[in-house]
Amino acid sequence: MKIGIDLGGSHISVGVISEDGKVLTKQEKNILFTEQKNDEIKNLIRDTIISLINAVLRDIKIPIFLIDGIGIGIPGIIENNKIKKCNKFKIYDWDLAKELEDYYDVNVKLENDALCAATAEKKYGNLKDSNKSIFLCLGTGIGSAIGIDNNVITSEMGHMIIKKDEQSLCNCGKNGCFETYCSMKSFKNNVIELLQLNKDIESEEIRTILTHQKDNRIINNYITQYIDNLTIGISNIINILNPTTICIGGGFIYFKEILFQRLLERLECNSYQFDKPKIILAKLENDAGMIGATLI
Ligand SMILES: [Zn+2]
Repeated sequence: MKIGIDLGGSHISVGVISEDGKVLTKQEKNILFTEQKNDEIKNLIRDTIISLINAVLRDIKIPIFLIDGIGIGIPGIIENNKIKKCNKFKIYDWDLAKELEDYYDVNVKLENDALCAATAEKKYGNLKDSNKSIFLCLGTGIGSAIGIDNNVITSEMGHMIIKKDEQSLCNCGKNGCFETYCSMKSFKNNVIELLQLNKDIESEEIRTILTHQKDNRIINNYITQYIDNLTIGISNIINILNPTTICIGGGFIYFKEILFQRLLERLECNSYQFDKPKIILAKLENDAGMIGATLI
């Protein structure tokens, strides 16, 4: 068995994953970075990972030497098993794997988080039978991966510009990126602002509130605008890559009852140069990244 870790933009999940991709136990912790300096952010990430690994090992009552390896999905660019660029945390050229290997004496591998999730969906989930697929991870940002036959490669579709808008500065330094309009962070922040909710509110609570606000005109207008923007991004992806399947995962899954049917209906009205692909949700939901991190 291995340990799979999903380093999200707002939380870290750590799980013990069996040989056949089952989550035997998992622990999660929210992380919030505001004013910390670069070294403090790195220390907080590393220390949180270590405390969660120790917690799952206690849960399952096994020592670390019985673990065959640790895999970590990172929201950024990985090169030579190091974090080359992670704009979300403003981390560049960090050898996190070596720091954890020194601590645990277990092999540690890093890979892009969307690639991990897509790999898990390909092996155990809803992309098993697809030979040309796109995985879109709508979470704190938008991660993406392209699957062709048995190969999965990473891409950065979240930074495709969908609008020329001076008001929407992305953490990559550009304006108008897909993820500044369509990430779940953007969705939640807009809902919080429109409904004047508490900034620290959890996704589950926002979902409950939205479920009871079906007739709220302001919210409905915003959701229409959100779906329109998501449709622009997905249409561009279809016209550029002609996939047979687009699989959506990440925090979007929490809001599937509110957003998914509306997205399907909106996409149906759009015109494409190619046949419209199947649009599906990730089967492994938010565990895909953690499970996939053990497959790299
Ligand atoms: Zn960007």
